[in-house]
Amino acid sequence: MTTAAPAKPARRTPLPRNAARNSAEARIVRSIGEAIADRRLPPGTKLTEESLAEAFGVSRERVRKVLLLLAQRRVVTLIPNRGAFVAKPTPKEAREVFEARRVIERAIMDRLERLPRPLPDDMLEKLRDHGALEDAAERAADRKAMIRLSGQFHLLLAEFAGNATLAGILTDLIDRSSLAIAAFERRSSHTCSADDHRRLIAALIGNRPGEATTLMIEHLDEVERQLDLETKTDTRIDLKAIFADEPEPA
Ligand SMILES: [Zn+2]
Repeated sequence: MTTAAPAKPARRTPLPRNAARNSAEARIVRSIGEAIADRRLPPGTKLTEESLAEAFGVSRERVRKVLLLLAQRRVVTLIPNRGAFVAKPTPKEAREVFEARRVIERAIMDRLERLPRPLPDDMLEKLRDHGALEDAAERAADRKAMIRLSGQFHLLLAEFAGNATLAGILTDLIDRSSLAIAAFERRSSHTCSADDHRRLIAALIGNRPGEATTLMIEHLDEVERQLDLETKTDTRIDLKAIFADEPEPA
């Protein structure tokens, strides 16, 4: 794994110290979230403070703060005396995350469906631009871009809905669903379908009442259905049930 941090964009006006610190932490949180989403950091990966500090060019203290923040969001698990690890969701947690996404994203779609039509030009433009980017990534079979863009699509809708609290909750849930997908996907090729997103964009622009919300719920159901939540990683196997048919000792 390379440790090169992405180039830092140049800022025109210096930020106050606190804001700069917070934005550096936000940048690391985002980068780790993206690395989890595109499987560079699979569930269970050890996150050493020293390597992260080097990779992002920040102090270990700041890395520790980021890890604590990620642990609060249940993206990272902290184990005393062993350190920080990318969280490994259980099948139950994975189901809970998708259930929570359906609740939050239904509320987001409700708000979007109530917006006056036609939608504002800048919103239409962003939706169409995003659709075009997903199409291009799909045509190029650029899996990393497809994963990143599919998460961004859901966050874009949250942003349009204009409720920052819902958007914040969804950001956490998207990171946690990335972990669930990484831990339980049946085929390595699957993520959100660009086709579903295309239909969602058309439904939002076309304003057929209720259609966009229905499509979103079906879309999330479909992503959850792609996961194998029945057979993997459940270590609480009932040994007596498994060996129930063993012959009695003679
Ligand atoms: Zn999606």
